[in-house]
Amino acid sequence: MDRGARSPSSIFFPSSLMRISSFPAALALGLGLLVGCRQPPPNGVALVGATLIDGTGGPALVDAAIVVREGRIESVGTRAGFELPARTTEVDVRGRWIIPGLVDAHAHVAEWALPRYLAWGVTTVRDVHGDLDSILALRGRVNDGAVPGPRIYSAGAMIDGLPATYSDALGANRASDARKAVDRLVNAGADYIKIYTRVDRVMLSAILDEARAFNLKVIAHLGLTDAVTAARAGVSSIEHLTGVPEAALPDPSSLVAAHYRSFFGGWTAFEQSWAGLDSAALTRVARELAGTKVTMVPTLVLHETFSRLDDSTVVADAGLKAVPEMERRRWNVPDMIARAGWSAADFAAFRRSRPMQDFFVRTFHAAGGRIAAGTDASNQLLVPGYSQHRELELLVGAGISPLNALVAATRSGALLLGVDSLGLLAPGKVADLVVLTRNPLNNIRNTLAIDRVMSRGQLLSPDSIRASW
Ligand SMILES: [Zn+2]
Repeated sequence: MDRGARSPSSIFFPSSLMRISSFPAALALGLGLLVGCRQPPPNGVALVGATLIDGTGGPALVDAAIVVREGRIESVGTRAGFELPARTTEVDVRGRWIIPGLVDAHAHVAEWALPRYLAWGVTTVRDVHGDLDSILALRGRVNDGAVPGPRIYSAGAMIDGLPATYSDALGANRASDARKAVDRLVNAGADYIKIYTRVDRVMLSAILDEARAFNLKVIAHLGLTDAVTAARAGVSSIEHLTGVPEAALPDPSSLVAAHYRSFFGGWTAFEQSWAGLDSAALTRVARELAGTKVTMVPTLVLHETFSRLDDSTVVADAGLKAVPEMERRRWNVPDMIARAGWSAADFAAFRRSRPMQDFFVRTFHAAGGRIAAGTDASNQLLVPGYSQHRELELLVGAGISPLNALVAATRSGALLLGVDSLGLLAPGKVADLVVLTRNPLNNIRNTLAIDRVMSRGQLLSPDSIRASW
């Protein structure tokens, strides 16, 4: 929501990560010496004996055997009758659970965040705004393999009305300028178009029309347009549940006026309005939205965290230790609270809104709506990677089953990106997965019990990655 400043420093390439990454090659070297270099080196890994949760939401496969080669899943079967293919190293994962690599569907990626994502099993991120040149350059370096990190998809810079909320957004106040902003993002190589709170309906329809010409999706943090109107106009996702109260209220004009006045004024009014919404109106909106096929990215972890900024345990959360001191200083939470003008009464009001947000999420889900798990990391107090697990927990708390929450954090994120090879563990899909030591279906917090992470077919040790930061 409130994008934190970006670190100019570059990540120190973790040598331990490199060692782990090149593990099959190192093993191959040893074997090659033993047999006088005649044997071709292994180029595959078989993970044998774990319970597989594949990302479809279907039943888990017990005692699975998954063969991975050159970054792709070659086969998925069971251990019974499994024969190790040639050039394949067997890894015993009995007593473990395997889930697809997590997809954070709402991220603001910074370079320091990259190893955090991987260590917490987030192997794909959907970046939704950054400095245009630097985020796309980072995407290039990571996706080319020059820098280790999750797969990055990016909106580049978001489009906002004028004056733009953030100086690095592309501002426009006329439909023709909004179209030009889309063209600039297309030329820069953005994967989709993100719009922000000050984009009005006229500009939204111009942006949708222009983006459609280039086959790009438009994703929305809404302010001046309600969620149902935006979804019917064709946005592919709605971030942070924005526009939902505006659609549920008989007269949303005071909320719209608050969005016009200021970003934080709009956010505060929006966040507080949930507590006063009635469940029948929210149910109607949930059903209308589910009917449009829009994906909701609720970022419950953002709502929950910001509703507890006056709670000392939030600021002391163990996950925050993973954030570099410099970044924590840059977050400057007291300054953000001062800029927003939030008081204890505001936080109490935000907390009163949380049950209605949960009610909306489960009603939308029950109506067949697609939910993707996203976090808003690395904004204030939202730890890259770690906060995705908090989002899973909050989705379950809202009434989504652990299995469906896992779908929201894997396959639904991939479908939202329009990338069929991600978020699903099946032959031909990319080999991004997480090996857990405890069953996430019994307790969703068990997604934190990460034994190993496979990213682009390479097995990584979270402890080794952590040792590097
Ligand atoms: Zn955001």
